[in-house]
Amino acid sequence: SDTTPRVLSIQSHVVHGYVGNKSAVFPLQVLGFEVDSINTVQFSTHTAYKHIKGNILKNEELDDLIEGLELNDVDYYTHFLTGYSRSADSLKKIADLLKKLKQKNPQLTYVCDPVMGDNGKMYVPEEILPVFRDILVPLADVVTPNQFEAELMTGLKVHNLDDALKVIQALHDKGIKTVVLSSTDLGDDDHMIGVASTAGSCYQITIPKVDCTFTGTGDLFAALFLAWWHKTNNDLKQTLENTISTLQSIVQDTYQKARVIQPSGKIPPKLRELRLIQNKTLIENPKITIAAQKV
Ligand code: ATP
Ligand code: PLP
Ligand code: MG
Ligand code: MG
Repeated sequence: SDTTPRVLSIQSHVVHGYVGNKSAVFPLQVLGFEVDSINTVQFSTHTAYKHIKGNILKNEELDDLIEGLELNDVDYYTHFLTGYSRSADSLKKIADLLKKLKQKNPQLTYVCDPVMGDNGKMYVPEEILPVFRDILVPLADVVTPNQFEAELMTGLKVHNLDDALKVIQALHDKGIKTVVLSSTDLGDDDHMIGVASTAGSCYQITIPKVDCTFTGTGDLFAALFLAWWHKTNNDLKQTLENTISTLQSIVQDTYQKARVIQPSGKIPPKLRELRLIQNKTLIENPKITIAAQKV
């Protein structure tokens, strides 16, 4: 029988550049996954650009696409991945869909990136929070919030590693087996810290900061974590190291190439687009430069 892992990824699509599905699908395919993608929006570019054009998938249209998969009996997946969503309604639909996908394959792994905000600010409507917190996240096998999103969902604040571990435990208590803080500000000025925890095993990793704001890196993080979690047979240390090493290679290369074109000052969005295609070989074979440490 075919053992190729099959993932359904529900995220944004951009015509130009790399966020959402554009950031997730290529790496997953390169790492050997069959990827079915549903695009929740189709925009020209991501939202850090000056002009935002395009449209949003309506809930009826999402229903329609799912119905087509069901009717044709092609809705068997080993993995389900969701990210950025701007409406509480569409998140409830995703929860219903997840239940059906789990009926079809009880072994299905659901990776939920609860995208809500960053650095103390929400960038989705407030009514999204209770849906993630009380409905969707408790159904996840793996959850990948950043520090702010983890704080929102638990009502706790993170000032040190001990606090981070409490937040992680509070998320485990909701029934989530694997909890990953994709980034926290627990490092010094030049580093962020990632923390991952599963079944009594916990690792942290120190990530050197590149002096630039990237878009699509959170989406890439969730996709790479999903891929390596499967490929390493749920080895948390290796998964965290492969995920972070790949991201580091890509953001550093993207930054260096941008600096050649724009030697000083602020780098515009189009020069900050992640160089995924050019780093295909590194995605397949991450160069491990940072070791994760047991907590
Ligand atoms: P989520 O999408 O889960 O809500 P997020 O959007 O806050 O999380 P990012 O801030 O994009 O996620 O960070 C994800 C990963 O991308 C980090 O763990 C880090 O490895 C990498 N990364 C992002 N920005 C930088 C940067 N400026 N320098 C170095 N690494 C970065
Ligand atoms: N999807 C769209 C359309 C966006 O504009 C953005 C960010 O601007 C994202 C997703 C999320 O990007 P990130 O992976 O950096 O969290
Ligand atoms: Mg962030
Ligand atoms: Mg994000």
